[in-house]
Amino acid sequence: MKNKELTRPYYASFYQNNRLPFFASLLFYCILSLDGPMISWILGGATDAAAQMSMPGMMRFIRIVLVFFPAMFLTLTLSYRFKSVYVKRGILQYKNLAFRNMSEKRVSAFSLRNTGGYLSALTNDIAQIEEDYLSKSVNLVYQILQFLIALGMMLYYSRVLTLAVVAMVILPALVSSVMGRELAKRTTTVSERNESFTARLKDLLSGFSVIKSFKAEAHTREIFYAENETLEEAKKRKRWWDALLSACSGMAGGLTQFVVMFLGAYLTITGQISLGTVMIFINLMGSSLLPPLQMVPEILAKRKAAKALVEKCAEMMSAEDVRENRLQVSARLTDAIALQNVSFGYEEDNPVLKDLHLRFEAGKSYAIVGASGSGKSTLLSLLMGIYDAYDGSLLVDGKEMKEIDHDSLYDLVSLIDQNVFLFDDTIRNNLTMFADFDDEKVRDAVQKSALSDMILSRGEDYLCGEGGSNLSGGEKQRIAIARALLRETKVLLIDEATSALDAETAAHINETIASLTGYTRIVITHRLDEAQLSRFDEIIMLKNGTVAEQGDYDTLCSRKSPFYALCALSA
Ligand code: ADP
Ligand code: MG
Repeated sequence: MKNKELTRPYYASFYQNNRLPFFASLLFYCILSLDGPMISWILGGATDAAAQMSMPGMMRFIRIVLVFFPAMFLTLTLSYRFKSVYVKRGILQYKNLAFRNMSEKRVSAFSLRNTGGYLSALTNDIAQIEEDYLSKSVNLVYQILQFLIALGMMLYYSRVLTLAVVAMVILPALVSSVMGRELAKRTTTVSERNESFTARLKDLLSGFSVIKSFKAEAHTREIFYAENETLEEAKKRKRWWDALLSACSGMAGGLTQFVVMFLGAYLTITGQISLGTVMIFINLMGSSLLPPLQMVPEILAKRKAAKALVEKCAEMMSAEDVRENRLQVSARLTDAIALQNVSFGYEEDNPVLKDLHLRFEAGKSYAIVGASGSGKSTLLSLLMGIYDAYDGSLLVDGKEMKEIDHDSLYDLVSLIDQNVFLFDDTIRNNLTMFADFDDEKVRDAVQKSALSDMILSRGEDYLCGEGGSNLSGGEKQRIAIARALLRETKVLLIDEATSALDAETAAHINETIASLTGYTRIVITHRLDEAQLSRFDEIIMLKNGTVAEQGDYDTLCSRKSPFYALCALSA
């Protein structure tokens, strides 16, 4: 039931604004299903005319052929034309819907593990849905209609012979339906292998600069070869079954045709039917009766496999964790963000943050320090509302984080972290993230994040390249900072955002951050010099997921405690 609701919009997307092309192609395919029976009829008639040595009868069929073939050609062209429009629109809308739904998922849905699945659902699976569902659904009607017409014609010409045909035809039909089921299974396996192959490839490609520099190509190749082997093996197993299926049903079909021929010959010799009728039977079987028997179970099986892919996609793209009535927070923090007994871990039984009690008051600045792996970034992720599965209570102005609507949260909070995502677009668009800001504001943000020189020399329309490849790490970081300043969200979460900057630029940016009055700033930093740390209202030192120390710079230093040791270490 739930699945039906999930998949319905996806099936609707195939036909939305697409009924005319669909029904038009269906109509022309229906006309097309007369093709085989017509040819058989012409051949039979012509054979009888020849057997009767009737020249006018012959001429009549020649005239029919002259009209029939151009008409068929026209129908064929039109059916393809409409079908191509129908398939294009259907698959286009389907993909757009899937992407739209995916883009509405929560951030936590985009861990590395998931993205391979999304990628596959939008690439490999699409090809199969296009071919086996969209394209073949028209074909299915065509095949069934053709079969029925052929059967009707046979009954009209000779009941005895039709009976024989039906008895004989059961065998190939049985073969295809039994083998079709196995084929469907093998098709699903190929899709799964494709998914894991894509995920692996994506993973490797994103790491190639590292792979190269550490000369790990050989190991990379081994990983690839293994994944490739698994995929191609699955494809081979499917291909083999495909071929076996058509060989078996081809054999069974051929055998049937011979039996019909000999039986027909016998009936002709005993004067029960004409030679033309035998001709019609043999031709009809080959063109219109046996192919559907072979194709229909196959189409149905593939259709089923394709529908499973639609279902998989619908499930994957559904925003499973959207809650109704989520709380709204205002775009201005009035009191504080408070953590009480907050514990959190990525895996069960392995807490990363343990029983935290912290209070970030509106308008104040906080530095978070601590050894790497102590849970600093995880803490910011919680403050960004990325993970729901924390214990204890995390309140934003008194509202529980898990209950807060993300749209409203992101009007309050921005995260600047080390992984900067840039669109392959202009610097200006990367700064504004495609929103409208007046030039004055943009200039101000640019100045505060020490980007003025860079923009002066390159221009706002400079293209950043794929993933920002045309910019340096420091430039990317500064764009991320300017971006957040531009949005003027009143809570800024900053995760080592100046790590790629030289000391002077970093100092400039830290100065900017320190002087942002009215903003609540929570800054993870590894720069432990006095000049910078003393600007924060409070320093929080994390150690193995707990607060080791807390207080302003002078207090912490005077204690000669863990913080002091950390400072001494880094000095
Ligand atoms: P810090 O930012 O202080 O260096 P993190 O918060 O990034 O530390 O990490 C704290 C711990 O959580 C580390 O042991 C890290 O291995 C683990 N961790 C971080 N992110 C993930 C994740 N997405 N999945 C599983 N474990 C994670
Ligand atoms: Mg970190």
